[in-house]
Amino acid sequence: MTRLDVLGFWFSPDAPSELPLPQRLVRGLGADERAAVLAYLRAGTVLVTFPDPSFCRFACGERAMGTRDLTDGRWVWPEGLAHYVERHDVRLPPTFTAHAVEANGVVAPFRAPKPRFGLYDRSAWLAWGRAERACLDLAGFELPDPEVRERIAADLGALPYEHILLCNGATREVVLDVGGGALELRQVKPGAPPPRRFAGWHEWPVSGARASSPSVAHPPTKPGRGVPMAEFLAALRSKQERDEPKP
Ligand SMILES: [Zn+2]
Repeated sequence: MTRLDVLGFWFSPDAPSELPLPQRLVRGLGADERAAVLAYLRAGTVLVTFPDPSFCRFACGERAMGTRDLTDGRWVWPEGLAHYVERHDVRLPPTFTAHAVEANGVVAPFRAPKPRFGLYDRSAWLAWGRAERACLDLAGFELPDPEVRERIAADLGALPYEHILLCNGATREVVLDVGGGALELRQVKPGAPPPRRFAGWHEWPVSGARASSPSVAHPPTKPGRGVPMAEFLAALRSKQERDEPKP
């Protein structure tokens, strides 16, 4: 069964995950490589169109990041990925870069696969991101569903915070948005150690100690019966990208 390796799927502060931060992948492409990569990225075929546009994680003010995923039959990437390479000098995995250079930036004819659940494979992208130390160590944490969120809120009581971002069922740790971009890591049980504060995700420890930590689970984890891939992904993505970071 064909699967497409994803490229350019980034960490989003509104739905924190182990996806890489592009800020940690700046530089590394030569001028020729960059030209070939850019041409190749722009030559992909549209696979899926989403209702909401993506946003630049560098918060540079670019609005035209696109709403579509493009493919060459082997990789799949958001059309805004070219912006990261062109404007922010972000590098991409060497297998892809070498392929784009060898192909002179031209995508060879291919038959586009039908969008379906399970088509996108994040494993190689995550493995490369971790090896480049561009992923946060969020192993064991997941986005709480509304029911879990409610239980955590009850446990937290009158503590001041803005949002519950992540929870870890095994350790009973929660990550709270405490305003102004700051985070608090707190264990919700009697006699817990004092919470840890982070000025932002940039201070969070980077993944890398463990070679293959499990991915953060995102609800919904699978599409309902009969939900087309596009609809499913759209729901997932609009959830992840609901709020644009304030510049
Ligand atoms: Zn930008």
